[in-house]
Amino acid sequence: LLELRKLNKHFGGLHVTNAVDLTLEAGEIHCLIGPNGAGKSTLFRLILGEHHPGSGDVLFAGENITALKSFARIRRGLSVKFQVPGVFKGLSVRQNVEIALQSRHRGRELEAEIDRLLVFLGLESEHAQTAGNLSHGQKQWLEIGMAISLKPSLLLLDEPTAGMSPEETHMTGEMVKRLNADGMTVLAIEHDMAFVRQVAQRVTVLHLGQVFAQGSIDEIVADERVAAIYLGQAHA
Ligand code: ATP
Ligand code: MG
Repeated sequence: LLELRKLNKHFGGLHVTNAVDLTLEAGEIHCLIGPNGAGKSTLFRLILGEHHPGSGDVLFAGENITALKSFARIRRGLSVKFQVPGVFKGLSVRQNVEIALQSRHRGRELEAEIDRLLVFLGLESEHAQTAGNLSHGQKQWLEIGMAISLKPSLLLLDEPTAGMSPEETHMTGEMVKRLNADGMTVLAIEHDMAFVRQVAQRVTVLHLGQVFAQGSIDEIVADERVAAIYLGQAHA
């Protein structure tokens, strides 16, 4: 579904993604892990088209989308939940969901879609609350809700469980698995290994802008080279 070919991105002298090759099969849940500053979020911005690569290509559903702007990529079925929350804090949960859904639905159908999404997110009893007053986990779920409102074929999640309790993290994993069962392909940047184990069929490790390792979660945690890059970070 998605193919990255030799993606290079520099910020000044910093080589943030270095010849990154990555292929996502339609229907998989793939986790992208790696130490802070590895270039994970930058890779998402390259996929969405918020950044453009110095060289390399992004292919989506067989089409080369490297030159397309973000809105054109979103229209083709790409969606991203970024690391930094982007909900409308002053509006209610329901109003946030309504904004996300109103381009696709009208009238009674819109109301039904809002209710359906709120139930999916487990936020139906919070619907009248101001989004800014939600717990950290609930805010993340609302973010995920906004990202899935246009029913993307590929959903990118940048640290969806950041700041969540283990229970909330587990619930998020179940949410992602249900989306995947309904046909959504998912690429998630994640630091929580319990979550990666819960959802990922394949894992890619990014380190210093390069694909460092790839495999099942068991292969990745057994890889001493991967452990070493995390140890290096802890001692840095
Ligand atoms: P984290 O796990 O901390 O979120 P990350 O893997 O997502 O890290 P990125 O945010 O992609 O890492 O950043 C990779 C490197 O690129 C970092 O050194 C960062 O400081 C740098 N960087 C990111 N965005 C920019 C930018 N717009 N301009 C200059 N440098 C940037
Ligand atoms: Mg990041």
